[in-house]
Amino acid sequence: MTSENIDRTANVVILGAGPAGTAAAAQLGLLGVRDVVLVDRHDFPRDKTCGSGLSPRGIETLKELGVWEDVKAHSYPIHGMRLVTRGDRESWQSAGEQAAAVVCQRRILDHLLLKKALSRGVKFIPNFNATEVLKEGERVVGIKAADGTTVRAKYVLIAGGSHCRVGLPEQRPRRIIQAIMGWWDNVPFRAHHLEMIFDASIEPYYGWLFPESETRVNIGITYEERDGKQNARELFQRFLDKHYGERLKGATQVGGWKGHPVVWSYAIEKLTAPGRIVIGESGLMTHPATAEGIYQAMKSGMLGAGAIADILSGRRSETSAFSDYERRCKSQFLLSFWAGGVFRRVARTDALDWVVQASQVPAVKSTAARILASL
Ligand SMILES: Cc1cc2nc3c(=O)[nH]c(=O)nc-3n(C[C@H](O)[C@H](O)[C@H](O)COP(=O)(O)OP(=O)(O)OC[C@H]3O[C@@H](n4cnc5c(N)ncnc54)[C@H](O)[C@@H]3O)c2cc1C
Repeated sequence: MTSENIDRTANVVILGAGPAGTAAAAQLGLLGVRDVVLVDRHDFPRDKTCGSGLSPRGIETLKELGVWEDVKAHSYPIHGMRLVTRGDRESWQSAGEQAAAVVCQRRILDHLLLKKALSRGVKFIPNFNATEVLKEGERVVGIKAADGTTVRAKYVLIAGGSHCRVGLPEQRPRRIIQAIMGWWDNVPFRAHHLEMIFDASIEPYYGWLFPESETRVNIGITYEERDGKQNARELFQRFLDKHYGERLKGATQVGGWKGHPVVWSYAIEKLTAPGRIVIGESGLMTHPATAEGIYQAMKSGMLGAGAIADILSGRRSETSAFSDYERRCKSQFLLSFWAGGVFRRVARTDALDWVVQASQVPAVKSTAARILASL
């Protein structure tokens, strides 16, 4: 796909073609909104540093978007999990034969979502590096790229992810989870099982192994900056040596390690202003304990699309549709974010060790699996 350096006008312009922007675009197409323009600073397919795990909620959302069958065909199914506590207790949780989750490389997932949006009439402009929103008074009326190209629209959706600051309010209670990860071929792992490793060096967060195929896995850690900046590579190397040293001996690393932040907040607020809606990680809607963000990005994108379709069709006023959008995001995500807050506190204690020890009892085992799955 090539960029076109011409100014445009549209009904809706969406900044960012990650899961939030593409889901919003696909949903707008489904709801019959015409003249939707989606821009991204990259051309597609493109990579995104991510564990690429899709939870049951994520799978349900892909079904709603009509893209699940395509994603399923390119995904690695997950039936269970190996859990290691900070006290080095190990437990295997199983969801039975049913795939409880999948891993789908972001290069593939995001491209499939984009293709669904294109099939519903959305126009995509790649290599559009947005630098500012266009305003008339207090109202956002479009976006402008570094090369001066503009797209003017009745509505602007901001979906630029964790790094992008364009069109966002200055003051927000923004918190950061740091992450670093790599990819390897031929690491021994139990088929169709992912791994979550809680370790005191990165608490309250965890390290993971997610299988992407029969032969390739991604391994990474999430952590918070403590007093002074930590050296991410040293922290990751220590984690790998302790938990994967033996299993990496015969493995081949694929590409270099990559670091990327995840931004989040317990507060879901300031998502709307005249003429614009914020969706996805730009709106700080990621899970405080697991760093899951794909599901929240797609879901908030769909809710944002619904609000804009209502306004453009004359069914609702902007004020009413925008406040409904913010209310729906809160009711969709806040409970699980608060549960994540509780889990962050629990993860600093020996409680998980106790649960795993008790999980030798079958009833507790299935309860523990349910608690982790519902986070
Ligand atoms: C290491 C790591 C592991 C993770 N693992 C998981 C996981 O396993 N499961 C999960 O659910 N979540 C995971 N996440 C979180 C998840 O990756 C994000 O929350 C999710 O991608 C957010 O989607 P989004 O569409 O809001 O933003 P993004 O996916 O970041 O998409 C933003 C898009 O906007 C574009 N863009 C940015 N700035 C501009 C600009 N100025 N102009 C034009 N375009 C722009 C970008 O190119 C990009 O395509 C992980 C995150 C990290 C860092």
